[in-house]
Amino acid sequence: MLKDNFKEVEARIQAACERAGRKREEVTLIAVSKTKPVQMLQEAYDLGNRIFGENKVQEIVDKYDALPADISWHMIGHLQRNKVKYIIDKVTLIHSVDSLRLAETIEKEAAKKGVTADILIEVNVAKEDTKYGVMPEDAARLVSQISVMPHIRIKGLMTIAPFVTNPEENRIYFQRLRNLAVDIGENKSDNVTMSVLSMGMTNDYEIAIEEGATMIRVGTGLFGARSYI
Ligand SMILES: *Cc1c(COP(=O)(O)O)cnc(C)c1O
Repeated sequence: MLKDNFKEVEARIQAACERAGRKREEVTLIAVSKTKPVQMLQEAYDLGNRIFGENKVQEIVDKYDALPADISWHMIGHLQRNKVKYIIDKVTLIHSVDSLRLAETIEKEAAKKGVTADILIEVNVAKEDTKYGVMPEDAARLVSQISVMPHIRIKGLMTIAPFVTNPEENRIYFQRLRNLAVDIGENKSDNVTMSVLSMGMTNDYEIAIEEGATMIRVGTGLFGARSYI
């Protein structure tokens, strides 16, 4: 079952890339394994998947210890400052930086561990009350404030689009995130590139790819529905 899901998602990614005239290598699939047991992640690993996304610090720490070391872990969920220290040297990319205070903590913990943290700025492009993320109009300033921190590299932007039944409705938000990345990228700065656009989930990743996503975060489409007990 897992195998078929990976095959289907892969076929859809390829089709979306073709429609958009993009190369398959431009899009990285992050398998969002939150709430799923280690055994299921191991199965995905055995199918060749090496990139997993999680949204809870405790879950990353537990799974990190239980699974092979060549996995690349992505922190995609809201990150509390007091928990940064547990994952700073374990994750490849933190997708969810949306405040200066959080960045300051990441800088401090990265310096302590002697690492450089790669991060994305999470933007609330649709300005939803219920969502984390910096407002689009505040993103450039946040990037510039963080860009002076020596143990952080800003790699791009991330967004969680609204929950909609027709994914076409989210196209506009993906376009906005891409345009924002272009604008911010024009203010050249040493620790900043805007090469990553993390956008698109199970419901809308094909649209996101058409609009320039370089990372898509797919959970349900690969691992099935989540049950929160
Ligand atoms: C859970 C989650 C996903 C995956 O959602 P699906 O709809 O299951 O694909 C993607 N991004 C973030 C930030 C998430 O929390």
